[in-house]
Amino acid sequence: MGNRLLRDTLFGVTPLRPILTFIAFACSMALFDAQPAAATPVLSGIEVSSEANGTDLRLLVSEPVALTRIILAGPNRLVIDGPEMTLRFSGPVFLGDHGPIGTMRFGLAAPGRTRIIFDLTTPAVPETFEGPTPTPGGFLIHLRLKPVDQAQFEAAAAAEAEKRINAGLQGPANPNALDMRPLIVIDPGHGGQDLGAIGVTGIFEKDVVLNIALALKQKIEAQGQCRVALTRETDIFIPLEDRVKFARQKGAAAFLSIHGDTIPGDSDIRGATVYIGDDRPSDAGAARMAEAENRADPTVPRTNDPANSAIADILGDLTLRETKTRSSLLARELVTRIADSARLNHNPLRAAGFRVLRTPDIPSTLIEIGYLSSKQDIEQLTSPEWVDRITRRMADALIDFTLSGQVNSPTAGQP
Ligand code: ZN
Repeated sequence: MGNRLLRDTLFGVTPLRPILTFIAFACSMALFDAQPAAATPVLSGIEVSSEANGTDLRLLVSEPVALTRIILAGPNRLVIDGPEMTLRFSGPVFLGDHGPIGTMRFGLAAPGRTRIIFDLTTPAVPETFEGPTPTPGGFLIHLRLKPVDQAQFEAAAAAEAEKRINAGLQGPANPNALDMRPLIVIDPGHGGQDLGAIGVTGIFEKDVVLNIALALKQKIEAQGQCRVALTRETDIFIPLEDRVKFARQKGAAAFLSIHGDTIPGDSDIRGATVYIGDDRPSDAGAARMAEAENRADPTVPRTNDPANSAIADILGDLTLRETKTRSSLLARELVTRIADSARLNHNPLRAAGFRVLRTPDIPSTLIEIGYLSSKQDIEQLTSPEWVDRITRRMADALIDFTLSGQVNSPTAGQP
C-alpha cells in the first residue's frame, strides 16, 4: 500500500517519468553513497515500468557485469544470473507499474554466483536484453518483457530449455568461459576396499550405488541447467571427510549421497529412505543406519571433525539452521518425486548423524535407495529400466530444488 502511494505521488502518469526518476535515484546514490568501492559489484537499483504492450525492467549495477537470463515455467519465473553481487538499495526497489513482475528473490546460488528470481504474475517473455551500458551511478541492464499467453510462455520456456540442453551436449562455446550453472555433487557411497553392504545375491553396495550415480549424472547433464560432479566415478576408496571437502571446494549448491541399506536376515523390509543430517536421530533405525555408514571409514576419528566445527563456528547458527531447513526441503522434494517410481520405506523421511551430511553451508541429503537384503529390491536396483526411471525423477528433484530454491529471503519492495 505504502509503495503504491509513493509510486503514484512520484510518477503520476507520464510514461517517461519513471526513467528520469530512476536516473535521478542513481545520481543521488553516486552523491550520497560515500562508501569506498566494494570488492564485489553492487546492485543498487531495480526499476519496473509497465504499459499495455510491454514491461521494462532496469537494473543498476556498479560494474559492467555480464548477466544471463532464463525463463522457467511452472510457476512462471524470470531468472537473472550473474557474478557475486551485493544488494544495496537505499530507496524503493520497484518503481512504476509492476506489470507481470511479482515478488523478487535475490541471493547466492553458489559461491561467486548471484541469482535474481522474479516471479511472474502473468506470462511475459523477454523481447530484448541490453547492457551493461554506462549510466550515471553505474551501469544499466535493460530487459523488456512482452506479454504472451500461458501456452506461448511455456513454449518459449521449453525452447530455451532445449537450447540449453543442446549447448550442454556440445559443451560450452568457449571452454575457458566460466560456467555459471549451479553445481550438484553426487556422492556414490563406499568404493575400493570398502564394499559397503553385501546383498543377498552377493552384489556389493559400492557397485549398485556407483551405477545409479552415473545414470543420475547423465540425466542431470541432459537437462542442461546444472553442472554435476561425482565424488568418485570409478571403484576407488574415498574417506568420508574428503567427500564433504570435495563438495565445499567445488562450491556445490546441493549434495546427495547414495547408499543401499541392508537388514541381514529380514528379506521383507524394502524401499527407499531419504535422510538429512542431525545429531539427534529421528528413530533407532536411523541411528543404526548412520552408525553403519559412518563406520565405512575407520581411519578418521568419529567425533566432531575439528575442521567442520571451525567452519560451523564461522558461519554461525543462522547458516546452520538455514542449511538444515534447505536440506529438509531437498529431502522432501526427493521423496515426493520418486514416490510413484520407487517403493518407499514406511517412514521415508528421517534424520541421523551421518558424517557426510555435516557440511554447514550446503543442503545435503543421503538416500538409501533400497535394501540389499531384499531380492526384489536388488532386482529393481539392477534393472536398467528402473534405474533409468528413478534417476530421471531424482534428477528432476535435484534440478528443481537447485534452480528454484537457491534464492531465499525476499528483499525486494523494501527501502
Ligand atoms: Zn552405504
